Amino acid sequence: MDEYIYLRYQYRIYPNDLQKAKAQITADCCRFIHNYYLNLRSLAWRTQHRSMNYNACANDLKYLKLVYPWLAQADSMALQEELKDLQRSFENFWRGDASYPLYHAKKSTGLSFRTRNQSDGIRISADNRYIHLPKLGWTKIRLSRQVPGIIENATLIQKPSGKYFVSLTVKIASSVVTKRNDGNEHGLDLGLKSFYILDDGTKKDNPKYLYRYENKLVREQRRLSRMKKGSSNWRKQKLKVARLHEKISNTRHDFLHKESTYLARKCSLLCIEDLNIAGMTKNHRLARSISDVSWSKFISMLEYKMALHGGMLVKVPRFYASTQTCHICGHKEPKTKALSIRKWTCPECKAMHDRDVNAAINILSKGQTLLHSVA
Ligand SMILES: [Zn+2]
Repeated sequence: MDEYIYLRYQYRIYPNDLQKAKAQITADCCRFIHNYYLNLRSLAWRTQHRSMNYNACANDLKYLKLVYPWLAQADSMALQEELKDLQRSFENFWRGDASYPLYHAKKSTGLSFRTRNQSDGIRISADNRYIHLPKLGWTKIRLSRQVPGIIENATLIQKPSGKYFVSLTVKIASSVVTKRNDGNEHGLDLGLKSFYILDDGTKKDNPKYLYRYENKLVREQRRLSRMKKGSSNWRKQKLKVARLHEKISNTRHDFLHKESTYLARKCSLLCIEDLNIAGMTKNHRLARSISDVSWSKFISMLEYKMALHGGMLVKVPRFYASTQTCHICGHKEPKTKALSIRKWTCPECKAMHDRDVNAAINILSKGQTLLHSVA
């Protein structure tokens, strides 16, 4: 039996004015559906202690379309996906992972909705220049590579800069895509100074030009905050900031892709620290929050790419004191906890340590121990 994996690919699309208007209609109807059924579900619970699930909502939607015939102008798959998302928001709330679902307000810029591929409603033209989307029809697309499998769903996105993208979830047989790796085992420490450090001392720094962009973003954002909201200068500046955001996120994205591919090809085993990303994003300093986002993205890229290359990513529990433990004699030195300490000497065995390399070595041996204790 074939196993499948799901990968996401994002492409720029170029809808014409009519297609843009149609996308906006679906986005507006999705927002209406979300708000309408959020209200209905809340009411059912408050007044009758009755829980209204996805199926009940989807069934009710048939009748709602008779009451509001303009809903027929929207992509019906997208409306169903919206109901599924609402169901998921409720499930997250019930589990205690999220707060109560909120109403969606109309955004002044950008849009986003997901639609499912049913009876080939989403497909690529033979010459790879167009994508067929429900309601929009054939839309111009820039494909950087062939779509490698069956398209499951598509998310249509308009970024605040005004550009349109489609993000496709593609189903691929894992036997088709499994690639080889070079069989190395490594420990990796994610850092602030360097992006990552391996146990053999390899350090990979954040790309320098990113700092330039990020500093520029801080400046431009400050300028924006001083302008009169709604004025034409403010609008121009807002677009400038949005474009800068996009540039930074694209550059980051490329960097993360390059590095995760490199590691997935190199390693059969890669051990990393299980980071508490949610806890870290509470830190409001911009540079810090950007790297937090990159780390969680990087880890999810590593996860699927290593699986693709037949390797394994092992997460070492966070409470394991990787930076404070001497990897040679196992002595724990709590003084090294301070981030400012880059190098230290073990008082027990007198070994000299680079803080991050020592941590990466510990992460590797902890990962190897964990792996063998499960096997
Ligand atoms: Zn020691």
